[in-house]
Amino acid sequence: MFATKLICRSCKAEYPLENLYNCSKCGGILEVAYDLESAYALKPVEKPDTAFSGMWKYRALLPVQSAENIVTLGEGETPLLRAQQVEKLWNSHLNIFVKAEMLNPSGSFKDRPTSVAVSVAKEKGFSKIVVASSGNASAAAAAYAARANMECVVFVPESTDPNKIIQAQSYGAKVYAVSGNYSRSFEMASYCASTFGWANVTSTFINPYSVEGDKIPAYELYHQCGRKVPDAVLIPIGSGPLLVGMYKGFCDLKNMGLTDHLPAMIGVQVESCMPIVDAYEKHEAVRGWTGDIHTIAGGISDPLQGYEKDGDLTLETVLESGGCMVSLSEEEVWEATQTVEKCIGLYCEPTGAVSLGAVKKLEANGFLHPGYTTVSFLTGHGFKFSKRSAQSPQVIHSPNELDIS
Ligand SMILES: *Cc1c(COP(=O)(O)O)cnc(C)c1O
Ligand SMILES: [Zn+2]
Repeated sequence: MFATKLICRSCKAEYPLENLYNCSKCGGILEVAYDLESAYALKPVEKPDTAFSGMWKYRALLPVQSAENIVTLGEGETPLLRAQQVEKLWNSHLNIFVKAEMLNPSGSFKDRPTSVAVSVAKEKGFSKIVVASSGNASAAAAAYAARANMECVVFVPESTDPNKIIQAQSYGAKVYAVSGNYSRSFEMASYCASTFGWANVTSTFINPYSVEGDKIPAYELYHQCGRKVPDAVLIPIGSGPLLVGMYKGFCDLKNMGLTDHLPAMIGVQVESCMPIVDAYEKHEAVRGWTGDIHTIAGGISDPLQGYEKDGDLTLETVLESGGCMVSLSEEEVWEATQTVEKCIGLYCEPTGAVSLGAVKKLEANGFLHPGYTTVSFLTGHGFKFSKRSAQSPQVIHSPNELDIS
């Protein structure tokens, strides 16, 4: 195990690898640091540890000491698929790929950060975890808690899709719906973690260990793209740990000499809740979103009220990588969802599909150049989304009644 300490991203204060949630000197976001020279010497990406499967093959670059504390359900190693029919449909000059993150065990990419956070909590001797979530992180936390034989308390906004609540309850979690937007649930989880001493596995930047799990798709893409990295990676963004984590993973690849090129990291939000897009367009710091939120992309409707600095970190990473922030209208979100389903054959929740919708928009405005290879992260499963109107199938009794041939 090569993780050595926690470092504040703002003031660089250092802390031991304990269960800490922010810098006690400046309130900044903490990050796991490693003895990278020793870790890289093992060639952890070129020669992953085959004693483990999925994401944990890369365990040299993850912060868990002892293998027996790893809490896994087989997350990671999701398929990378070329979307040829979408390229045709859009007359696109890009090589469009999708990463099928909905195929993780609980149906979203949140299994990656949650597997790491719950493993560290287990290693530190916790028996109870708490999570604030727009739905998918709560389902993931509940699943990994069940796997680890821990108790799990979940706070979700009232507007959370019932399918995500049912899933968390089915794994045995105690679920509370908190009135107001996601930021109110976030405060509730922080309060309980500090008051009752439960481990907070909320998958924003509050738990410094969870974002380490978000590095792993960068290593997977290196292998899946034929020992190369794509030109652009597109990610649905609430606060943005998947984007920040993955960029850290790509920087590892560069520091190991495996690539000299880093992808442009592109964050996608919806017009109904776009605090980071707003800051990007105005060249300002991120401000908490105060507008009314009505969107089918509930997984990314995070107004960042009270933890605006999470948005600043994501925006800094986007800019450093040469990427951009972009938002979609509700119509564009729904069109993207149907495109994923009908032209790729993956069942996807609208939140996850925004990363594909953004490709169309950014090719049209010239940000994505002809010949680029793009990878859109389809972050959540279609089963998570209950607000579809089924077309009632025709009831028949014999083949004579078929209206097709
Ligand atoms: C959580 C989530 C995201 C990303 O949200 P962050 O707040 O940036 O972690 C994206 N898509 C889906 C489906 C999610 O559940
Ligand atoms: Zn600090």
